[in-house]
Amino acid sequence: MKDYDAIIIGCGASGTMCALSTKNKNVAIIDCNFLPSKKILVTGNGRCNLTNLNLDSSFYNTNIDAYLNQFNVKQTLAFFEKLGLEWYADEENRVYPITNSAKSVVDVLSKDLKNKVEMFLDETVLNIKKENEKFVVSTNKNIFSCKKLVISTGGNTELFKNLNILSSSFTPSLVALKCSNNLKNLNGVRISNALVTAICENNKKSEMGEVLFKEDGLSGIVIFNLSSIFSRAKNFNGKIVIDIFPSLPLSTLKQKLENRKMLNVPLNKFFVGFLQNSVADEVLKQSKLNGNIDSKELTENEINVLATTLKNLTFNIVGAYSNNQIFSGGVDLSELTLGLESKKVKNLYFTGEVCNVDGVCGGYNLQWAWTSGHIVGEQL
Ligand SMILES: Cc1cc2nc3c(=O)[nH]c(=O)nc-3n(C[C@H](O)[C@H](O)[C@H](O)COP(=O)(O)OP(=O)(O)OC[C@H]3O[C@@H](n4cnc5c(N)ncnc54)[C@H](O)[C@@H]3O)c2cc1C
Repeated sequence: MKDYDAIIIGCGASGTMCALSTKNKNVAIIDCNFLPSKKILVTGNGRCNLTNLNLDSSFYNTNIDAYLNQFNVKQTLAFFEKLGLEWYADEENRVYPITNSAKSVVDVLSKDLKNKVEMFLDETVLNIKKENEKFVVSTNKNIFSCKKLVISTGGNTELFKNLNILSSSFTPSLVALKCSNNLKNLNGVRISNALVTAICENNKKSEMGEVLFKEDGLSGIVIFNLSSIFSRAKNFNGKIVIDIFPSLPLSTLKQKLENRKMLNVPLNKFFVGFLQNSVADEVLKQSKLNGNIDSKELTENEINVLATTLKNLTFNIVGAYSNNQIFSGGVDLSELTLGLESKKVKNLYFTGEVCNVDGVCGGYNLQWAWTSGHIVGEQL
């Protein structure tokens, strides 16, 4: 049996940061992938949006101030600079490597890793047990023991089920949403500068931005961010309501439509020059008005129905796609100390996505991985 002071399970973003932050040489890291930090390669569309200059707890599902106070964005960037990574921030404060390549982030993280800790890649942890003061970690190749154990396994809580740690089940989040509406005509269409509201059970959340229509669902950063409302609900069911003209009050919009009556065209041509054709078709479908009505004959009530539909285009959400960026759920912070150690099981630590912390798109999830990984690494 190989014995270490500490073992980190998971060589993803947070596990790698944890390994690089420890001064202890007698530490091992185990990952079932044969490449360290493999997932980072696909982040930020291959560019890796590693953090955000505008970051506080309001971008997360829970308050993480106490952790950010220990390792914040500035310290994270200083850490990466020390590794040799040059970075820039875009107009939305999202930070990327100057090379615009996620590989650069993986390269600087991997450079010294094997000198810092012992690495066991392409090796899957199958079981964890606590025996007296030690943890026994069994993989498909070895049996290890250690005094301190770090769980950095991303969306995988299976491993520590027998350690009696309370964790809520994982559901996909930051994900495109599937709709029951027939969206064939809208496939590929984008509606920009919209106010998008997600409604699920008793929760409601809105965000401004762009919605991208897929053949059977909705995508785009706004949809990703709002998807957490559905992830946390009992059923992945609810509505997305799109206000196509959030800057126009209903009365102004009605007046605009009233003025368009003089176009003297059938209703199915009424929105030409005002809406994309497929969006206009959807508005007519949802307003349930006959496309042959002459615009001149539109009644006040019909104008009201059209304007209301433009501000409340509604899509029924019935599920999520499988390409989620993160999982919602995991070990609640109330189960953990400020050092991310289990309050129940001494010397057991959690970092990254396995904790019940999730942020919106924009570098927030990786920042949690860096912050939590660093805090734990310093204690090994
Ligand atoms: C497509 C995509 C794009 C993203 N883009 C961004 C972005 O631009 N910015 C951002 O902030 N966030 C982004 N994210 C989210 C971000 O990648 C995660 O929040 C982050 O990787 C979580 O880090 P982690 O260390 O908790 O888990 P991970 O990085 O998932 O690492 C977990 C590791 O544990 C290993 N593991 C699991 N179980 C076992 C086992 N039994 N035995 C051995 N090893 C095991 C896995 O192989 C993995 O390497 C993106 C995610 C995806 C999927």
